[in-house]
Amino acid sequence: VHRLMSHSEKMAIAGQLAAGIVHEIRNPLTSLKGFLQLIQSGIAQKDIYFNILIDEIEKIELITSELLYISKPTTNRVQCESINSMLYEVVELLKPQANLQQISIEIHIAEENIMITCDRSQIKQVFINLIKNAIEAMDDKGLIKILVKRQSKQIIVDIIDEGIGINKEHIDRLEDAFFTTKDNGTGLGLVITKQILERHHAKLLVFQNKDRGSTFRIVF
Ligand code: ADP
Ligand code: MG
Repeated sequence: VHRLMSHSEKMAIAGQLAAGIVHEIRNPLTSLKGFLQLIQSGIAQKDIYFNILIDEIEKIELITSELLYISKPTTNRVQCESINSMLYEVVELLKPQANLQQISIEIHIAEENIMITCDRSQIKQVFINLIKNAIEAMDDKGLIKILVKRQSKQIIVDIIDEGIGINKEHIDRLEDAFFTTKDNGTGLGLVITKQILERHHAKLLVFQNKDRGSTFRIVF
């Protein structure tokens, strides 16, 4: 069992972020400039490079839109919300992506309706980030199980996948800004997740499953 997110280390994250942002955005910008210069000089045919140019721009777009999420003010609308309905909405949203990979998603809720006090859109963002990661960790076919239960005064949400699991060497770096093992990843999903959960005084834990894949656990 690894505790991913204990105390807030906001300054450390800010420094990490600043360095990372420069790196992550300068690379695609340099590449954009280079390809545009090639096209301008007439050396390269522009159609060949359009896809690369668009890819680089999309990368910058994705990074900046995720960063915007991080920089959002801490308190928005906080009220009593149903975990059930937030999960159902998120799963509906992610179904097309899951269907493409023939992945099914099951939600098991121990009680009728479990309520938490939260910012609905932020907690939905947490569920999106974790379930997307679960989908991305799996090849074709498989099951993602979401279990919600109450344990004494805590509410536990487990997101259990049958994916590739997490490398031992990677486990301590998951929460680092821009750490990604994916070709088209930003490495910001878990940073955002960590921030939102800290604001809600909730914790994120990660386990390696006995058989296959990993479990991300939110404890409210
Ligand atoms: P991204 O998804 O853009 O890579 P994240 O911050 O969401 O960024 O995740 C960081 C990294 O953590 C991923 O690249 C992956 O290596 C690892 N990871 C996260 N969730 C899972 C999971 N369910 N199974 C395996 N690895 C995961
Ligand atoms: Mg992610």
